[in-house]
Amino acid sequence: MENCIFCKIARKELPSTIVYEDDKVIAFNDINPVAPVHVLIIPKIHIKNVMELDEQNADIMKDIHLAAKNIAVKLGIDEKGFRLINNCGEEAGQTVFHLHYHLIGGKKLGQGLI
Ligand code: IMP
Repeated sequence: MENCIFCKIARKELPSTIVYEDDKVIAFNDINPVAPVHVLIIPKIHIKNVMELDEQNADIMKDIHLAAKNIAVKLGIDEKGFRLINNCGEEAGQTVFHLHYHLIGGKKLGQGLI
């Protein structure tokens, strides 16, 4: 999508600190981190959010999860644990409408979900 900031990051038209990349997925540090590790994992193709997943594009979920595992090992948070969060829609707090998962860790996280 022309004006989507995450599409621009995926196309390397905007700067980012990339921590992982393959042919389908790219992951980069969140610009406003909430923990020592705060990485955003996104598909390179534009998918608005979970509600836009279907039988044709949902294989990307496998790629995102395998990327999350790979990044957790690479950043040394695989043993202590981490959180993988998706906000879907405005009421859930989604502000960038390109599917992304927050990989958060590197500290003891709170127990609450909301
Ligand atoms: P959301 O609220 O779940 O949609 O998450 C969007 C995330 O994108 C937020 O945590 C922002 O800090 C992050 N963000 C927005 N713009 C950029 C950017 O240009 N680079 C890296 N992260 C960004």
